[in-house]
Amino acid sequence: MDFLQPRLLRMNRRRRIYEGKAKILYEGPEPGTLIQHFKDDATAFNAKKHEVIEGKGVVNNRISEYLFSRLNEIGVPTHFVRRLNAREQLVREVEIIPLEVVVRNVAAGSLSTRLGIDEGTQLPRSIIEFYYKNDALNDPMVSEEHITAFGWAAPQELDDIMALAIRVNDFLSGLFLGVGIKLVDFKIECGRLWEGDNMRIVVADEISPDCCRLWDVKTNDKMDKDRFRKDLGGMIEAYTEVARRLGVIQENEKIGAGGPKLVK
Ligand code: UDP
Repeated sequence: MDFLQPRLLRMNRRRRIYEGKAKILYEGPEPGTLIQHFKDDATAFNAKKHEVIEGKGVVNNRISEYLFSRLNEIGVPTHFVRRLNAREQLVREVEIIPLEVVVRNVAAGSLSTRLGIDEGTQLPRSIIEFYYKNDALNDPMVSEEHITAFGWAAPQELDDIMALAIRVNDFLSGLFLGVGIKLVDFKIECGRLWEGDNMRIVVADEISPDCCRLWDVKTNDKMDKDRFRKDLGGMIEAYTEVARRLGVIQENEKIGAGGPKLVK
């Protein structure tokens, strides 16, 4: 099997740029590109809870591909180029802005806890929040003042980020509603994409049930990472059902362990 050697060597030598909790970034085939690899690891509570959920990376790769492609099509700029294989996608290299941008439509999670608002309460309008990406500090919530004063983003960049977040929310809310899913809240990350001397802010990272709250419209069943956070079980089945409803996975297609079951 000597003939396999050069290819294996090349694969092994692929430079790893960054490894996070759920993804790995490798050097891409051309300058200015990266390969984003989706792992099966599920973590919560700043990685204090950790499990491997077989097939999660494959489903998230497909869901994120679908959502980023639709966003690209309507002119919301993203880092996404194309999916390469079951677990990997080609993306454009961006300078990640160290913020988690959360958009909420319905009260849940930390908003409910912090402000004592019952989970499931419709918010009077969509709310944007910012968290400073810093594991050592537990991703503290920050204001626009902090962001501009400490230079994490310039005022104009922050305006662009908020405009992008609103567009993503409006588009994804409609898209999910069309398949019987309520978009309760979600998190995006943005980056600076340089093209020569010009820079624009684009949506980066991923959009998947790992970073959204998705509830079945009829039953309010959770179809997202809260199944893991709250030990509800059926995480891969729920993610697969999201993918099915979006038309990303075919009815008879099986991804992950044990074969997906419907969440009803
Ligand atoms: N979120 C995320 N990564 C984080 C924190 C939050 O993707 O590190 C997402 C989360 O899945 C939810 C939204 O952002 O869809 C709002 O999360 P929240 O502030 O309620 O925090 P949580 O309850 O997840 O701790």
